[in-house]
Amino acid sequence: MQINCERLKANLLELSRIGYNEDDRGVYRPGFSDADMQARSWLQDKAKAAGYETYMDGAGNVFFGRGDRNKPTVLMGSHIDSVPAGGIFDGTLGVIAALEVMQTLDENDVQSETPIWAVATAEEEGRFGGMFGAQAIAGKLNPDWVLSAHDADEVYLKDAMSAQGLDAMAALDAAWRPEQLKAFLELHIEQGPVLFQDNLQIGVVDGISGVFKWIVHLKGKADHAGTAPMDKRSDAFMGLADFAHEIDRIIAENGTDKTRITVGKVELKPGNPHTVPGEAVFTIVGRDMDEEVMKELANACNKTLSAIARRHHLRFEYEQSSWLGPKPCSKPISDLIEKQVKKRGYSFTRMPSGAGHDTQFLSEITEAGLIFIPSVNGVSHAPDEWSHWHDVEAGTNVLLDTVQELLDD
Ligand SMILES: [Zn+2]
Repeated sequence: MQINCERLKANLLELSRIGYNEDDRGVYRPGFSDADMQARSWLQDKAKAAGYETYMDGAGNVFFGRGDRNKPTVLMGSHIDSVPAGGIFDGTLGVIAALEVMQTLDENDVQSETPIWAVATAEEEGRFGGMFGAQAIAGKLNPDWVLSAHDADEVYLKDAMSAQGLDAMAALDAAWRPEQLKAFLELHIEQGPVLFQDNLQIGVVDGISGVFKWIVHLKGKADHAGTAPMDKRSDAFMGLADFAHEIDRIIAENGTDKTRITVGKVELKPGNPHTVPGEAVFTIVGRDMDEEVMKELANACNKTLSAIARRHHLRFEYEQSSWLGPKPCSKPISDLIEKQVKKRGYSFTRMPSGAGHDTQFLSEITEAGLIFIPSVNGVSHAPDEWSHWHDVEAGTNVLLDTVQELLDD
């Protein structure tokens, strides 16, 4: 059985026109924007035309499929909202591929008692915090959060939804019971360079990396850059610079090949070319697939910064603004995906996902699996995001085979 790549491509390109900006060639479909809602009704029309039932839940998630959802359902999907100036594959691939898989099964007369449904989740990309639809399905939302969430322009989620005729509080009724689900499968672009650089067709994802974020303050003394002798300074930037050079060692001693540590945002105070920086405020974001390793990394960062602070006569403080443990995918499902990949003879690797995906919330209520295909040059969240059609085809065939195995057993 093969999916119809021409039809998939046509659907994906048609969807990419909604919210498309001619000037920068980017897709603009932030959650609950007009373009996002237009894409949702386009999808419902497509699904209806293909003969499927479809509905939108209280969170704005669009579902389509067939069969009684009170029985254990095989659910596929991803999201169709985008970051501003996003690409045409991020999220949409998993939704359009799900439609393609259903159509291929039907055309090949694959009958099954198991209900098959697909979902295009709402607000995955983070206009209001992200993964809104997936959290609603997993039953992770609470009224306080729903009412207080707002975007960077102080537009409240509840107002953005009500402008689209939706009641935000209805998102609290969108949860699925675990017994309604047999499995969840998401096909997504890697959004990183690993598969592309290693010339591999498929990534079988073992789980989504845990991540912690620190806001670090190194406090010294602001001084006149001309009169303060070099050996009498408490230069906060020098502490930060020393830390940057310790990151490789921290990972070598405490991390794994899946560890990532990033200093992504830096502020020097007072921030004057002629003043020795009295304070450095910066972020540390650490990731790994193992929570114990994450703890060791955090501990090592703490010790290293304390030692550096002593050396440069600085005060070291930090605040942990978030700590999210790793979210493993279901091993039986990952193994099942790998089996299908091998049967098709595709090249592949098992890998973690450094980015968050809908799968991480679905994995809390069912057996969830995530399949990656290569992103050309690892580019994503940009108009240059691209994946080759032969990889799109391979990934969708793997989704097809995996769904079929789940229907059979
Ligand atoms: Zn995505």
